[in-house]
Amino acid sequence: MAFILPELSYAYDALEPHIDARTMEIHHTKHHAAYTTNLNAAIAGTEMEKMTIEEILANISKYPAAVRNNGGGFYNHNLFWEIMSPDSEGEPSSQMNIHKAITRDFGSFENFKKEFSAVGSGWAWLCVDKNDKLFICSTPNQDNPIMDVVDAVGTPILGLDVWEHAYYLNYQNRRADYVSAFFSVVDWHAVTKRYNDANPGASKF
Ligand code: MN
Repeated sequence: MAFILPELSYAYDALEPHIDARTMEIHHTKHHAAYTTNLNAAIAGTEMEKMTIEEILANISKYPAAVRNNGGGFYNHNLFWEIMSPDSEGEPSSQMNIHKAITRDFGSFENFKKEFSAVGSGWAWLCVDKNDKLFICSTPNQDNPIMDVVDAVGTPILGLDVWEHAYYLNYQNRRADYVSAFFSVVDWHAVTKRYNDANPGASKF
C-alpha cells in the first residue's frame, strides 16, 4: 500500500505572519510531496509495502539510504504539520500533562524553550524516552528519533524543521527569529495528545 501525502488541516496562509503562505505551499506541495513519491518508489515490491512508517523507521538500519531519507522526510513533515495550528495559545496551559512534564524535566517552560531554540540546523525534537522522561535532540538530514541508527532513540512529540527551505523566503539568515515565531503556532493540544499516547505513565499527573 502506498503512503499518501496528507492534506493540511489549515490553509497555507493560516500561520501567517509566523510562517508565510508561499513557504508553506512549496514546503508541502514540493518538498513533502517529493519525499512521499520517492518513498513509495523506494519500497515498491518489498516487505516494507506492508509495514507502517513507524515500523519501517524503527528498523531503518536494514533498509536502503533512499528509504531512510524519504521515509524520514515523509514522517517528519507529517508530524510538523500536525503540531502547528493557527489557534495556538503559544504556551501549554498549566493543566496540560505536557506542561507538567516540561516543568518536571526542564525546570520551567522558559528553560525548555531556551534549550530547544539552541539546537542547530536539521530537525529539532522534543521526545519521550522509555522511562517517560522528556529530552531534546536534533537529527541531521531527514533522520528522526524513531530510527534505530540515531544516538538518542525516543518518541518525538514536537518537531521543528530547521532546514533553510522551511524559512529562508521569509527569514533569510534569521534562523533564531524563525524558531521564535514557531512557538507562536505550536498546537500544544496536539503535543499533549502525542505525549499522553507515547507515555504509559501520563495518567500519574
Ligand atoms: Mn522540510
